[in-house]
This record gives sequence, structure tokens and C-alpha cells, in this order.
Amino acid sequence: KLYNQVQDLKGSIRVYCRVRPFLSGQSNNLSTVDNIEDGNITISTASKHGKGCKSFSFNKVFEPCATQAEVFSDMQPLIRSVLDGYNVCIFAYGQTGSGKTYTMTGPKDLSEKNKGVNYRALGDLFLLAEQRKDIFCYNVAVQMIEIYNEQVRDLLVTDGSNKRYPLQSVLRVELYDVIDLMNLGQRNRVVGATALNDRSSRSHSCLTVHVQGRDLASGTTLRGCMHLVDLAGSERVNKSEVTGDRLKEAQHINRSLSALGDVIASLAQKNPHVPYRNSKLTQLLQDSLGGQAKTLMFVHISPEPDALGETISTLKFAERVA
Ligand code: ADP
Ligand code: MG
Repeated sequence: KLYNQVQDLKGSIRVYCRVRPFLSGQSNNLSTVDNIEDGNITISTASKHGKGCKSFSFNKVFEPCATQAEVFSDMQPLIRSVLDGYNVCIFAYGQTGSGKTYTMTGPKDLSEKNKGVNYRALGDLFLLAEQRKDIFCYNVAVQMIEIYNEQVRDLLVTDGSNKRYPLQSVLRVELYDVIDLMNLGQRNRVVGATALNDRSSRSHSCLTVHVQGRDLASGTTLRGCMHLVDLAGSERVNKSEVTGDRLKEAQHINRSLSALGDVIASLAQKNPHVPYRNSKLTQLLQDSLGGQAKTLMFVHISPEPDALGETISTLKFAERVA
């Protein structure tokens, strides 16, 4: 018996889009976003070559003024279905600077109001588990990893060691521990990054929540799992401009994002063959992508005319998996 209206969620793959507002201090306020209505977004492609526009449709498009609370409340039923035993994957996709980390974690000066999906999701799951405590006994475990150049790093280690998969630090937690754990993961994520070399935009980070619920009446157990993924920046780099390590990174990112797109597109088209093996990310998430699992591809775009090329390519990526 389901306790949420999860049946109302159409299909198992949904695509959302969020437009970042102009940042304070930005003087240019000419947005490439021409119109947002229901799930439709129209981008103005006007340039010196002439006028033009392109429209895209998704399950939901958030305007630049959308609050963190509004964004979360839309995702809440999906997230809550984890406690009914569903597997859920949420991906934040977009070029560097488009607002992926803002959506998933929040800005650097984190207040209650601007906390991102990760914090709200964890808080909400514990709240719901508490409300159901006469029906289910829930056990929650949390894991945080980073994938950089196709190598997996555990972010919940305190001794600074670089453990490789299989990961040891799957931690059983209570709500009051969760925030500390997530902060530890954030701190570990920036280790290895320097001011000029912010590695976080070139790695995928994934917060995983495993839930096990024992039905107190029947004694049966259900298992659910949620992956909240802040993907590496999707911008294409100019091959003539980068060499060495940066070129290698860019190729890894390119390959893994297209592998992810291929997997979700084949699931959306109900292809019998799903190419999970082509990247570390899709290998790790294989059990949570497809089947009964629910996937949300959440793409982010920047409003600046400079970003037009990347904006169109992000929206095309999203359209392909929708
Ligand atoms: P990404 O993770 O995609 O590289 P960030 O989340 O770091 O991008 O966002 C880039 C900058 O824009 C940050 O300073 C962030 O705080 C700000 N920002 C992003 N989205 C929003 C938003 N919806 N409202 C206000 N500021 C935002
Ligand atoms: Mg980021």
C-alpha cells in the first residue's frame, strides 16, 4: 500500500529546467530567455545574423525568481516516494555557473531560506519517517562520493585518505547528524581544489540515501534509494585552448555526460538495450536507473547572451531525454 500519491507521477523520467537570475553586480540585463509559460521556454537567438527564437517543452520550467522552497516543493512527492521503496535519481545538469550547486546545496552563505534540495530532502525524509513511526521502522544510511576523471572518491572520510570503491563510509544516521555529514562532504570536496583551479565544477558529486523500512504489522521490509547528483559542468571546451590535464578532464566529462544522456534517452524510448557500461556514473547508478526507478533530469541555464551557445546545447540535451 502506498502512502503517497506517487501514482500521480507520470512516467518514470521527468525533465525540469531552472533559469538562473542575473547576479548582483551584473549590469547587462538583457536575457536570452524570451518567455516562460507552463512547461515551455522560448530562447531568443537573435544575433548580428538576424532575429530568431527557439522553443522547448519540459515537465516544468522555473523562472529566475523561483525560490528554493518552491523548487523543493515540486520535487517533494518524488523524494518522498523513496520511503515507499522507490529508487530515485535527481541530476543537476548545466554549464558551470548556471546554478546546479545552488539548486542542490545552496549558495555559499547558507541560510535556512536558501538551503538547497539536498538539505531539504534529508530533513523531509526524516520528518516523514517520524510521522510514520507507528507503521514503519526506518533505517537511513548516507553516502557521498565524487567522480573525477572516472575515479570514485569517498567524501565522507575524516582521515583524508582517498578510498576507492567499494566504499566503507555508508553511515547510519539520525537527522541531527546529517547536516554535519553533508558539511564534511562539502569540505572534502574542495580539498585538492585551489583558488584558480576549482575542481568541483569538473567532477560529479553524488549524495546517496539508502532507506530500509520494516512494516511493523507484517514484518516485511522495503528498500529505497535516492541519488542526488551535482554533475560536472557541461560546457564544451575549445580543444585548441586546453592541453594536458585539462584536456583529459574535459574528455572524461564529455564522455560521461553523453553516456548519461544515452542511458536516459534509451530508457525514455523504452529501448531494450540500455548502455550503462559506458561511464563510471551510469555503472554506479545502474540499479537506480530504469525499471521501477524514477529519474529527474534538472537542467540549469544562465540568462546571459554570452551563454547562448551553451544554453541551446543544454536545452537540446534535455529535450533528447524528455
Ligand atoms: P554551478 O554549480 O552550476 O557552477 P552555482 O550554483 O555555483 O553554479 O551558481 C553560480 C553563482 O550564481 C553562485 O554565486 C550562486 O550563488 C548564484 N546563483 C545560482 N543560482 C541562483 C539563484 N537561483 N538565485 C540566486 N543566485 C543564484
Ligand atoms: Mg557547482
